[in-house]
Amino acid sequence: MNGPDALYRSVVATTPDAILTMDEGGRILFANPAADRMFGYAEGELLGKPLTLLMPERMRRQHEIGLKRYLDTGERRLDWSQIRLPGLRSDGQEISLSISFGEYRDSDRRIFAGILRDITDESRREAGMRFLLEASEVLTTSLEYEDTLRSVAELATRSIADWAAVDLVEDGKVRRVAVVHPDPAKLRIAQDIETRYPTDPASPVGIQHVIRTGERVLIPEIPEELLLNAAHDEEHLRLIRELQLESYICVPLKLRDEVIGALSLVSSTPARHYTEADADLASELARRAAVAIDNAKLYRSAEAARDAAERANAAKSEFLAMMSHELRTPLNAISGYAELLETGVRGELTAPQLADVRSIQRSQTHLLGIINDMLNFAKLEAGKVQFSYGTFTLDPLLRGLEELVRPQLLEKDLKYEYRSFDGRSTATLDSEKFQQIILNLLSNAIKYTADGGRVCVDWKIDGPDVVVNVADTGRGIPGDKLDDIFEPFVQVEPLRTRVTGGVGLGLAISQDIAREMGGVITVRSKLGSGSTFTLRLPRERPGETVNPSPRRSRL
Ligand code: ADP
Repeated sequence: MNGPDALYRSVVATTPDAILTMDEGGRILFANPAADRMFGYAEGELLGKPLTLLMPERMRRQHEIGLKRYLDTGERRLDWSQIRLPGLRSDGQEISLSISFGEYRDSDRRIFAGILRDITDESRREAGMRFLLEASEVLTTSLEYEDTLRSVAELATRSIADWAAVDLVEDGKVRRVAVVHPDPAKLRIAQDIETRYPTDPASPVGIQHVIRTGERVLIPEIPEELLLNAAHDEEHLRLIRELQLESYICVPLKLRDEVIGALSLVSSTPARHYTEADADLASELARRAAVAIDNAKLYRSAEAARDAAERANAAKSEFLAMMSHELRTPLNAISGYAELLETGVRGELTAPQLADVRSIQRSQTHLLGIINDMLNFAKLEAGKVQFSYGTFTLDPLLRGLEELVRPQLLEKDLKYEYRSFDGRSTATLDSEKFQQIILNLLSNAIKYTADGGRVCVDWKIDGPDVVVNVADTGRGIPGDKLDDIFEPFVQVEPLRTRVTGGVGLGLAISQDIAREMGGVITVRSKLGSGSTFTLRLPRERPGETVNPSPRRSRL
């Protein structure tokens, strides 16, 4: 054989693409060997058969209508050069085809020729990737993982499976969290089977097995004997058959090395038999689902821990507030009666008695100070402190502080220096709280400076801020403690060697108040030669934070 005819024949006979021709009546006139192979027929078997034989049932009518319309009107609804359609093999399997068509005339007959390529693997891969992407999106949208798993199962039944189920291990038991099938009647049968015939945990292909071993199971074609073996009785077998189980994948949901559940996919379509590629896809999906479950669980436990901590903290603050409040009443009584004795209305006191009464008063004042600190702190922690902003001139307020600490200064023979910036500058702050902070810093400066030392207060306006320094020539603070001292109950000296009063709340309270007013306290210090605490506050009211919300406890 030679010439163009021979060449055409060789090409048609050897090409891996199927080539078919069809007459106006839709009958096959010619099929090359690749077409026979693609659809599973013997040589010559297709000749004279309707082309619809090679199409799934559901496509046939549409094809006939389309062909008739074209012959009558010449109207083409499809792009003939590029059509994707499913095909049907003689064994009932569906394949995906990429088809291009042409038409020619042979004497007065119209003939249609098609070239068909099997793209089943390619389109499965594509569908798989699409599904995986969609599923990943679903998995990251919600922290309610049971809903999420159900959505993923639903998604699976729209693309790669007829059945999808997710089981999770909880407290050593396997619990089904989702089972999806588009047909509710089938779902009912499945549930019926589950309640009437519980699965055998020892079954080597069941979910339990996958969970126990962490190994996936793939059954491309579920053999009849498997169903027979699984069935407890005739009725059971009948029900199982109704489910039309054709092909099966079960993959473990693994988190690190632990199996936390399983994902099962079932195909009921005779044309769809799962392959290793499908099992890989399911494994990848299971991996992503497990990560999503892990995230959701971690989030939930963190939330629960935070809730518990917040509740405990609220209870603690409430307790502190209540205790301090309750303690103040008897303390006030102590102070009242001590004063009464001191005035002599109950009879003149001897000098030693008077000295004792004064000791009682000093201790009372000290204790009251501590209790007030606790109360303030508890209130701050609970966000219950109200700020009342007002505009005031800075100099008089700061100058007046000396008056308030004069007794302590005298007691320790400390030199006091006040350096004013100017006499006019104003600030819009809660003046009482502003004073409270500086008084706190000043009391500390006095408390932690040895007799004969020096304490200095100076201030300035720095851009939008007012900056107040409280400096002393006291013992200083070790560098590694400079941050910690602002934490509640932190004191540089261990309790047993302490000579000064206080419980370590003063700076924590002051810092909290400063922060609420939009500012901050910082410290510079050299061990042995003194400390300078600096309060920086915006002179204008910061935003609308009059009623600050409760903050996280720092205790
Ligand atoms: P308290 O004075 O009640 O212990 P504070 O919160 O006011 O609590 O201070 C915390 C700690 O910081 C103090 O115990 C002390 O060790 C250290 N400290 C604070 N101010 C000074 C200061 N001016 N000089 C040295 N140490 C200080």
